Amino acid sequence: MKPELFPEDIRDRILPEAGGDLRYDCLKCGGSFPPDALHYTCPACGGLLLLRDHAEGRLRERPGSWWRRLFDHRLMANSQALRGVFCYHEFLAPLIPLEDVVYLGEAHTPAVKAPEPLEKEVGAPFFVKLDGLNPSASFKDRGMAAALSFVRHLVRVQGKRGVMAVCASTGDTSAAAALYSASLGGAVRAAVLLPRGYVTPQQLSQPLGAGASVFELPGVFDDCMKVVERLSEDYDVVLLNSKNPWRVLGQESYAFEVAQQFDWETGDLVLFVPVGNAGNITAILGGLLKLHRAGVIERLPRVTAVQSERANPVFRYYSAAPGSRSYEPVKVRPSVAQAAMIGDPVSFPRLAWLAQEYEAARGPGAFQAVEVTEQDIMDSMILANRTGLTVCTQGGESLAGLRAALAAGLVLPGETAVLDSTAHALKFMEFQNAYFRGELAADYGVSSRPGNVNAPRALELPGIGLPAQGKTLTPEERSVFTVAAARAIASALGLAPKS
Ligand SMILES: *Cc1c(COP(=O)(O)O)cnc(C)c1O
Ligand SMILES: [Zn+2]
Repeated sequence: MKPELFPEDIRDRILPEAGGDLRYDCLKCGGSFPPDALHYTCPACGGLLLLRDHAEGRLRERPGSWWRRLFDHRLMANSQALRGVFCYHEFLAPLIPLEDVVYLGEAHTPAVKAPEPLEKEVGAPFFVKLDGLNPSASFKDRGMAAALSFVRHLVRVQGKRGVMAVCASTGDTSAAAALYSASLGGAVRAAVLLPRGYVTPQQLSQPLGAGASVFELPGVFDDCMKVVERLSEDYDVVLLNSKNPWRVLGQESYAFEVAQQFDWETGDLVLFVPVGNAGNITAILGGLLKLHRAGVIERLPRVTAVQSERANPVFRYYSAAPGSRSYEPVKVRPSVAQAAMIGDPVSFPRLAWLAQEYEAARGPGAFQAVEVTEQDIMDSMILANRTGLTVCTQGGESLAGLRAALAAGLVLPGETAVLDSTAHALKFMEFQNAYFRGELAADYGVSSRPGNVNAPRALELPGIGLPAQGKTLTPEERSVFTVAAARAIASALGLAPKS
C-alpha cells in the first residue's frame, strides 16, 4: 500500500527515521558504552552486554493503541526494509537507518493453530509458530538481519573494510551468518566453526553453499565457542554468536510478532521455547518486557524454557527453589535436539537477569522451565508431522515441553500455548530417518515406536518384468505392467474395485 493512503495520524511515521539512544549496558559493572563499534563483552570488565535504548521513555509519549495501529498498518507497507524484523524499528534497533537494513525475506512467520487431531491428542488448544520458514530455515535469520544491518551501517558510515565475520554453531547460526554475510558481497566474508559430526548434512551444506569458510572441529559446540571467543579477543573479527547483542535485538522480533498475531492480547498465552545457548529466550523475554513497558501489551504472557534432559543447565537452575539456585554448566550427551545441545549457555547471565525482571513484572510463575526426554522429543516431532505440521526436532522439543507442562499442571486454565518450532523439519530429517530405521537407540536412548515407523515399500510384480532402468517399454508391455502394478497397489491398500 502507498504511504499516502495510510490513515493521517500514522502516515508520516510509516517510514521511521533513525533515532533512539541505544547503548551497550554491562550487566556486571553497570558500565554503558556508545554503539559506534561492535562489542561482545564489556570493554571495562568483560561482562555480558545488553543493548538498551536510553531514550525508551519516548515510546511512552504515544499510547499503546497508537503503536498497535502503526505496526498493524506497517505490515501493509511495501518497503523492503520494513518487511522483516525492522517492521518494529522503534522497538528493535532504532539507530539503524532504513537504507542500511539487510532484508532477505526473514520474519513474520505464521503462527498456525494445531490441527484438530493434534490438539485432541495433546489435550489442549495451542499454536505452532513455524520459524523454520525463514530464508536459511531457522529463527537465527532474525538476529542475523539485525547484526548484519549494523555491520552494513558501520561499513557505510565508518568506511569499515575487510570485515571477517565468525561464529561457532550447532548448524543454524552458521547457515544464517553465511547467507546474510554473502548478501553484502565482498564487504563481509564469513568463517564458521562447527563441531564435527554434530551438525546435519543439510546444515553443513548451507554455509558451504553460501561461500563461507567452513571449519570442522573436534569436540562439541561449547568447544567451538571457546575458540571463537579466543579469535575475537586476539583478532579483529565480527563475532556473530548470540553474544553479539545486535542478534538478540533482531530476535526480539519473535516476541513482537507473537503479540501482533494475537491482536496484542498476550495475558492468556504461555510460550514454549527450546533453549540452547539461551540467546533466543533472552530476546523473547526482553522483547516482551519492552512492549509491556511501553503499554503496547497490557499483560505479559508466561514463558516456558524447554530443555532435553541431556543438555539441561537452565532447567536444573530453575528446578531449585528461588533462594537456593546455583548455576552449573553440564556435560552434554548426544541429543536429537542438536541445535540446543549446549551445556554452558553463553547467555545464561542475561537470561537469569531478565527472568527475574520478568517475574517482577508479571508475578511468580511468569517464567518456568521444563525438561523432556529424547524419546518424547522424537515422538512429538513425529506426532506433529502425522497430524499435519512439519516441525524440526527442536519444535518436537517444544511440543514435548507442552505435554510435560500439561502433565505437571504448569499450564493454567484458559491459557493458550504458542510453541516455537525454531527450524525447518527438513534440516533434521536424518533423525527421523534414523528413528524409522531403528538406529537411534544406541546414542540417544530412543526406541522406535512401531506405530510411528514408516518406510517405502518395494513393488513386487511376480511374473511381470519391471521396466529396466533406462529401457523404454513397448506399448503392450506398458499396458501389462500398468494393470499389474495398479492391481498390486490396490491390493496392498485394501481397495475394493469400483462396482
Ligand atoms: C539455535 C537454535 C536453538 C537454540 O537457541 P538458543 O538461542 O541457542 O537458545 C533452538 N533451535 C534451533 C533450530 C536453533 O537453531
Ligand atoms: Zn562491565
